Amino acid sequence: MKTAVIIGGGPAGLTAAYELLKQTDIKPIVLEAEDFLGGISRTVNNSGNRMDIGGHRFFSKDPSIMAWWTGILPLQGVPAPDPDKEDRVMLVRNRISRIRFRRTFFDYPISLKWSTFKGMGLANTLKAGFGYIGAKIRPLPETSLENFYINRFGRPLYEMFFEDYTTKVWGVHPSRIGADWGAQRVKGLSVFAVIKDALMRPFRSKASAKVETSLIEQFIYPKYGPGQLWETVAAEVEKMGGSIFKETKVTAVNVEDGKVTGVSVMSPDGERTIACDWLLSSMPLKELVEGLRGLNVPQEAAQAAQGLPYRDFMTAGVLLRRLSLPHVPDTWIYVQEKDVKVGRLQIFNNWSPYMVADPENTVYVGMEYFCNEGDELWNMAPEAFEALAVAELEKIGMASAADVLKTSSTKVKKAYPAYFGTYGQIGSVREFLDTIPNLFCIGRNGQHRYNNMDHSMLTAMEAVKNIKEGSSSKHNVWNVNTEQSYHESK
Ligand SMILES: Cc1cc2nc3c(=O)[nH]c(=O)nc-3n(C[C@H](O)[C@H](O)[C@H](O)COP(=O)(O)OP(=O)(O)OC[C@H]3O[C@@H](n4cnc5c(N)ncnc54)[C@H](O)[C@@H]3O)c2cc1C
Repeated sequence: MKTAVIIGGGPAGLTAAYELLKQTDIKPIVLEAEDFLGGISRTVNNSGNRMDIGGHRFFSKDPSIMAWWTGILPLQGVPAPDPDKEDRVMLVRNRISRIRFRRTFFDYPISLKWSTFKGMGLANTLKAGFGYIGAKIRPLPETSLENFYINRFGRPLYEMFFEDYTTKVWGVHPSRIGADWGAQRVKGLSVFAVIKDALMRPFRSKASAKVETSLIEQFIYPKYGPGQLWETVAAEVEKMGGSIFKETKVTAVNVEDGKVTGVSVMSPDGERTIACDWLLSSMPLKELVEGLRGLNVPQEAAQAAQGLPYRDFMTAGVLLRRLSLPHVPDTWIYVQEKDVKVGRLQIFNNWSPYMVADPENTVYVGMEYFCNEGDELWNMAPEAFEALAVAELEKIGMASAADVLKTSSTKVKKAYPAYFGTYGQIGSVREFLDTIPNLFCIGRNGQHRYNNMDHSMLTAMEAVKNIKEGSSSKHNVWNVNTEQSYHESK
């Protein structure tokens, strides 16, 4: 039997294994470094209070992905409820996410409502209006993310709503980030898009495909968080005959005569090698190139891979008796307050009440911090980090420390592949890796691209298609999520 080794048990790796089993007679062997599955899209269960470490909307412009998800976990109540399966469903959720700024709430994306102008004050509103007109009359060359935002919002709005937040997320100023990052995430979002959306809303058909993704207001969500979907997929993979090894980290990729012959792994049982006919890798591109053995990596590709930057991520889970504010319907809140480090708040009760052990009497909040592995925040002891989170929650007027029942925290390395450093030379890495016929780079860090779950899955599906057809082409695999018509707001 032919085998395919799959590095990573996140959405990309598990989709690849599932599709290989459905479409071919190749045996997938999934190797996952951690002791859990789902990768960044996992759910952490803290005694019945579940934390989605990123707040994962299940939404795709590709209907086949929506159908794939609901094929694994059907929509609640479709077809008629089956009492045996009522826990294994997708809920339809409303997206409500606002900006917390100046201790008040603003719509996200900024909407042209009285409350927005009131929140900004007359002077700032006038400044923003003139700034926007100025940007339209004299657009800047789109050489950086800063100019990208200024051209779409004007300088005053950029300074108010984007400059600090982007710096918080990436750890570098937007003037040092390429405009293509903006193009990929928020291309269609601008003051013009916001005005058009407000005017067109009453006339828009539900099926309108033209709605910018940032403005999409409904999404589906597994009853117990994203990890539930990926754990269900993993169980199906094993049921169909695939193998999944947790706590098994790939330390080297062995190449002979230009082809991958297998991988070396480290697990609690020690070191061993696993042979394969194909390798699908969702491990970070930087580490994949470093781990190649048995061939010469061209210097340009080695240097480019070595310099790829990432942003790491920490989440504090805070279980509260109540929030300080009376009604907070948001799934997530962007924190633009300049005097705190927290970047976003998740309110898990609003994602799915089943995420919380006692949703009637408690509120479970996730506080997201962007950081770099090894920096001050990353190195904080968990108790100190959680205390900081609680203090910041209080500072921005969302909760009182006296109402805190429990805290916990998690760290995620390489949560965001970043578009600076040697990212501009990533083509040389891809060109070199494409010379290895039986190696496919899939997923988010596997391609060093800001891929969401749907894109990560599509890269896996394209790789499986090529393997099935006996093709060693990688073009279609790298081509996922490059059409730039998908806009992500987070
Ligand atoms: C804050 C945040 C919010 C997000 N929100 C959304 C959202 O709303 N909607 C959406 O669709 N997407 C969202 N995403 C993106 C989503 O999390 C990713 O697209 C998805 O998890 C990527 O899947 P993947 O399998 O490529 O990678 P990962 O999820 O990173 O999985 C890769 C796996 O490979 C393993 N691995 C790495 N190296 C090795 C090795 N050497 N050996 C063995 N295993 C290894 C890792 O442990 C990991 O489990 C969000 C991401 C973040 C960070």
